[in-house]
Amino acid sequence: MRLHLNLCQQTAATLIPMLEAGQTSCVAVMESVLDQIEAREAEVHAFVSVRGRDELLAEAKAVDEMRAAGEEVGPLAGLPVAIKDNICTKGLKTSCSSKMLENFVPPYDATVIEKVVAADGIILGKTNMDEFAMGSSTENSALGNTKNPRDLERVPGGSSGGSAAAVAADMTILALGSDTGGSIRQPASFCGVVGMKPTYGRVSRYGLVAYASSLDQIGPIAKCVEDAALLMGVIAGHDAKDSTCLDVNEPIVADLDNGAGKSYRMGVPAEYTQDGTDPAVQAAVDQTIAKLEALGHEVVPVELPHTDYAIPTYYLIASAEASSNLSRYAGYAYGHRAEDPESIDDMIARSRGEGFGDEVKRRIMLGTYALSSGYDEQYYEKALRVRRLIQQDFDAAFAKCDFIVHAVAPHPAFKLGEKTDDPLAMYLEDIFSVTANLAGLPAISVPVPQEDGTPPIGVQCVAPALREADLLAMAVAMQNAVATPAV
Ligand code: GLN
Repeated sequence: MRLHLNLCQQTAATLIPMLEAGQTSCVAVMESVLDQIEAREAEVHAFVSVRGRDELLAEAKAVDEMRAAGEEVGPLAGLPVAIKDNICTKGLKTSCSSKMLENFVPPYDATVIEKVVAADGIILGKTNMDEFAMGSSTENSALGNTKNPRDLERVPGGSSGGSAAAVAADMTILALGSDTGGSIRQPASFCGVVGMKPTYGRVSRYGLVAYASSLDQIGPIAKCVEDAALLMGVIAGHDAKDSTCLDVNEPIVADLDNGAGKSYRMGVPAEYTQDGTDPAVQAAVDQTIAKLEALGHEVVPVELPHTDYAIPTYYLIASAEASSNLSRYAGYAYGHRAEDPESIDDMIARSRGEGFGDEVKRRIMLGTYALSSGYDEQYYEKALRVRRLIQQDFDAAFAKCDFIVHAVAPHPAFKLGEKTDDPLAMYLEDIFSVTANLAGLPAISVPVPQEDGTPPIGVQCVAPALREADLLAMAVAMQNAVATPAV
């Protein structure tokens, strides 16, 4: 018997047993997702490209045939996965939503793409983002804005706004994003889906177009924690092609029900309850903590005293690394090249001038200044020292607790255009997310449904390095707790 429920709205966790039982097929799932893209993409604009229907259906059919022939299929068996457009896909344009790379077709796949394909996942298409992952609203894309599918007047967050919007609008089952200072967790929070940034080094960055190399990590965006865990398990692991990728034995995913019946110590940092936080965000955090406490988890006050320095520290380090990473786009190797240059200098200057958008130029200038001789000690090196202090704050906090729970962003999804004239206001929205990147810690955003019917608001849980398995179990406990009525 075939079940006729709307397949694109389902989670991977629901679809996989249905596929195994023969109640539906990968072709039917793919068709449903493609129909949904046809219905919603024009208004949401989550994608910069979607692969051809025939090709996608043929790949889905191949997985159905493997299963029918009794062959073993991989853990993502035929499920569509949308990919942020800064992750290299062989033969598929990878633009970073920049004019600079508008026509760049990578000659190789990123390691995460190889892993998704080896797990029988199907690469659906590439998603919109802030140019070179610099931004918090996807408004810095050179390829048009993405809208929040839950409220089209609002931003989807960023920089992985396209991936989060695609998941929230049921235009894919799973997605990959990248997180340098919150770019997976914040759009997941704004769009009411789950987003996870792993420990720095857990996932290979080979084939991820570099923004700030000491902070960048790839991670999953999904409709529920179980699905995020599934994709996390597929993409994690040592890779000799990335020298910062860790070779460790700690499990990335273990028993997801481990949180039930356990009593965890939840660290609540006083510094993260700030005057500027929106009351609805604070209420979502407080409700989550209260519900977890009612289930037997313990609240432990912790201190993260260097929180006030996190934004300047992050923007100095990220911009410095970006200015170095982006120096490769000069018009001679690949990327945009200005027409009819008069000299090499003219070619470099005009190619960069024409290819990069305003925010990218701002970061390159900030970063170049912070690294320039005479100022590097005062800015860049000082930022590195403060980064160490922020890491030490977390070490001290985790001596007292198992996880730290707090908001993802101070405000829920804001209106399109609301912050575009004020870059500093946009930067300040990252206060609760950049710290996990500076400290290299795994963190997840779990959507908290709102009783007044407004879109969900993400609450964040941060774990010690390499404790993804526990973090995911805790996140399942959070997800279950917030699904129950108020306490
Ligand atoms: N909003 C932050 C920035 O603009 C984070 C971006 C990211 O994580 N890629 O740098």
